[in-house]
Amino acid sequence: MEKLLIDIDEVLCQSTFLDEMNKFLKTNYKIDDFTEYYIDDALGSDENKQKFYKILEDKDLYKNAKIYDGAVKTLKKLNDFYEIYICSACVMFCMPEKSGIFFKHKFDFLIKNFPFLNPDRFIFTGAKNIFKADIQIDDKLSNLKGDAKTKILFTAYHNKQITSTELKNANCVRCDNWQQIENLLLKRS
Ligand SMILES: [Mg+2]
Repeated sequence: MEKLLIDIDEVLCQSTFLDEMNKFLKTNYKIDDFTEYYIDDALGSDENKQKFYKILEDKDLYKNAKIYDGAVKTLKKLNDFYEIYICSACVMFCMPEKSGIFFKHKFDFLIKNFPFLNPDRFIFTGAKNIFKADIQIDDKLSNLKGDAKTKILFTAYHNKQITSTELKNANCVRCDNWQQIENLLLKRS
């Protein structure tokens, strides 16, 4: 079976990080208001960021995460044809020593919403590029530098400006949703 490496944030779901940020700032930002990866820049000063991240220590950002349409259904189908590994970074650079909660919350999220996946194949790391897979799906182009045969950039607020030429040069294809991934990966298996 081919190995499939799949990211969590902005690929399987959107966490409630932005909702918490809106509560904190008393704003009403939508995710597509942002074009840069680090949306917490909207918090402004480092002092404000520290205050906000202190609040996050008691929050589960994955309990009510918005799972993307078709993600569960498609992964269930792909699970019959591929060895699926979920690979996600969990250490927040603003609170590295408190980041254990993100490992737990992401693990719980996967167990609850994707019960058919094998938890032995959950990988929590920021060093995604050391893992070798046949196919990799991520929303961050810099995470797709490895030598997977098929590299899929999942469209997200921060990567829409990446051109088809840039994608081609990076040996990546773009998918906007899980239906497109299903069409791409199930058709060939
Ligand atoms: Mg991601």
